Amino acid sequence: MSAPVLSVDDLSVEFATREGTVHAVRHVGLDVHAGRTLAILGESGSGKSVTAQAIMGLLDTPPARVSSGSIVFEGTDLVGASERTRMRINGEGIAMVFQDALSALNPVYTVGDQISELLRVRRKLSRSAARARAIELMERVRIPAAARRVDDYPHQFSGGMRQRIMIALAVALNPRVLIADEPTTALDVTVQAQIMELLTELRRENGMGLVLITHDLGVVAEVADDVVVMYSGRIVERGSVEELFQRPAHPYTRGLLRSMPRPDREDDELWAIPGAPPSPLRAPGGCAFNPRCDAVVDVCRTDQPELRLIAAGRHSACHLSQEVFDGRA
Ligand code: ADP
Ligand code: MG
Repeated sequence: MSAPVLSVDDLSVEFATREGTVHAVRHVGLDVHAGRTLAILGESGSGKSVTAQAIMGLLDTPPARVSSGSIVFEGTDLVGASERTRMRINGEGIAMVFQDALSALNPVYTVGDQISELLRVRRKLSRSAARARAIELMERVRIPAAARRVDDYPHQFSGGMRQRIMIALAVALNPRVLIADEPTTALDVTVQAQIMELLTELRRENGMGLVLITHDLGVVAEVADDVVVMYSGRIVERGSVEELFQRPAHPYTRGLLRSMPRPDREDDELWAIPGAPPSPLRAPGGCAFNPRCDAVVDVCRTDQPELRLIAAGRHSACHLSQEVFDGRA
């Protein structure tokens, strides 16, 4: 594999709140490669969005703080980078599709004006060239009758079509990396599949690195090449999608796989990992997963397990990783 386009190392992000410091993300490391899809998988509150927002430079001002680590994009560390560097890289280097397309689009401008504005400012296109390119982009994300709909306002589009417009905006400057944060959560199942297909197609055509944030294992199985699994702000497991599904090395990943609906097995009812993830202000000592873990031993309640290499390309943060991996725990 070639060198990563984007490499995050030891990233920690905290928020100052009235109740104390929230350690939302701790020591997260991940690599994004051109033309590959990296899924960030985890339950709600595990730190997926905070990781993405930190990569976009949205958490550089109080109460948020990047308290450790580096975010290296094509050789430039974005942590502590100048405003100018950020402005250059956001959109052209790294772009993001947010979860909620409706609130991310401006309701008082037509979608064509919103796409054109970006192209006029960043690409210095003339008004007519920007409009033509906006229509092209809308066609590219398969909005029917784009040439007519370019003058419509966001509320005149369905949720799925609005998400396509968000994607058109995100890819307008041909970014090297596209981050999609739960891009289909608010959409119905058929539309979800279409949006995922569109993202995968754009990744392939543009050779982008795609970072897909999701809590849906089915989506991961379908589209990801590499996976990082997050729990309570930390990465608990990392590996290729095939290996992770065939042989999970962390009890949390094993639990997630077990709770996945299986169309080929209708006999047993849906299983769920018992309990709920901890609040970051009240995380238990030792491994944050220990109260819910089916393989827990004493050391899990006292010591934080390190993310360790357990096999080629496989990392797991569990005191019993090797045993879980070998099927002995
Ligand atoms: P998710 O994996 O669901 O995307 P997030 O990354 O949004 O999770 O959140 C991770 C943790 O950081 C959560 O516990 C959340 O409460 C906390 N958090 C996120 N944003 C803020 C904020 N602005 N202030 C305080 N805590 C925050
Ligand atoms: Mg989120």
